[in-house]
Amino acid sequence: MTHFEEYCTKFVQSVGNKAGAISPAIVSSAAFAYETPETAEGIFNGSVKKPLYSRMGNPTTARLESIMAEMDGGIGAVATSSGMGATTLATMSLLASGDEIISIGGLFGGTYSLFNETLQRFGITTHFFDVDELEAIQNTITEKTKILFLESVGNPNMRLPDIKAVAKIANDAGIALIVDNTITPLSISPLKLGADIVVYSTTKIISGSSNALGGCAVFRAINEGDDKFKTPRYGWMTKFIKGAGKMALIPNAKKRALRDIGMSANAQASYQTMLGLETLALRLPRVIQSVEVVAKALDDEGLNINHPCLSKHPHHKRYQEDFSNGCGTLLTIDMGSKEAAYSFLNKTKIATITANIGDTRTLALHMASTIYSDFDDQTRKFLGITDGLIRISIGLENPQDIIDDFLEAAK
Ligand SMILES: *Cc1c(COP(=O)(O)O)cnc(C)c1O
Repeated sequence: MTHFEEYCTKFVQSVGNKAGAISPAIVSSAAFAYETPETAEGIFNGSVKKPLYSRMGNPTTARLESIMAEMDGGIGAVATSSGMGATTLATMSLLASGDEIISIGGLFGGTYSLFNETLQRFGITTHFFDVDELEAIQNTITEKTKILFLESVGNPNMRLPDIKAVAKIANDAGIALIVDNTITPLSISPLKLGADIVVYSTTKIISGSSNALGGCAVFRAINEGDDKFKTPRYGWMTKFIKGAGKMALIPNAKKRALRDIGMSANAQASYQTMLGLETLALRLPRVIQSVEVVAKALDDEGLNINHPCLSKHPHHKRYQEDFSNGCGTLLTIDMGSKEAAYSFLNKTKIATITANIGDTRTLALHMASTIYSDFDDQTRKFLGITDGLIRISIGLENPQDIIDDFLEAAK
């Protein structure tokens, strides 16, 4: 797991201060004094780099944003109040009525309803595909397509995308690729694989202790020469590129989403998220190893486990080749029926029953009766939600303790 080593140094060094208070200051002020009218004018026209108002940016949050941007090799980042805030910011800043999204794989319940219900009400159409339907995806692209949206790991269907292949389709067609990398921070670096924007729910493994709701969108730099954001498809970007050059996706996100919709991060959550980042690169390899140990042991004992580390999984080869640094904390158990799933959840002593994932603790949830209870049968089938499906997020406990507890609960 040498892959995570470089981040161990980066995170602790960039979160802490070398002089004065070591822990980052929490600037909880909503507003900022400008001192003079000249400074005020400069702050508003962007020539003076000082905080304007916390909806548009906050010093504590700015620190988190710069660490997140560096983590993914982006030019900048915008932290948000939640993961859904990040997805809303990234998508709404690129969309107008009449536009289309192509959504691939997954899909997290909130993202599904954002695309299929909320954005639909504003005249935006989304086409949904499985990760392996590459030809159909290609054939669905029109001049109205503004976004290809992809989850790095299907939650909860555990299917893995060929991110490079999807990025090639997006880049050949000149369409923005947004990757939701919530489940695989550090393990997968979407910008390096050809994505334009990465979105995170930092609520999950990044903050890691179920203590801070938050999200973040990380943006790539606009290229000096040709760039998809310089084409007529993204015509409004011209003014942001003129004003901010390679940084243009940041003012685009702030002025076309954050300013008017207000999904801004708060300083306290940004601080707690940075504390999570300090240990992220230590927690991840531990959990990724435990997930494999638990998945294989339970599978050997005859439980119906879904995880791509198992040779029976259709994306096992992709897991070994493209996801050699793991695919996050999740696995699923199909208990066969709602009754059997409830019996398991009532008997497990280790798992905490909750909708969250990526915590230090092991978490579990019956899918059909909770997150997907509003969804019709056909949609559940598309998303892989069966009656007995339990989603597990493995924590930092001793993996043998988890195995023993789960085998007992499954009896
Ligand atoms: C949780 C989650 C979200 C939404 O994040 P919130 O912080 O709960 O708003 C989006 N995508 C994925 C993959 C998630 O797991």
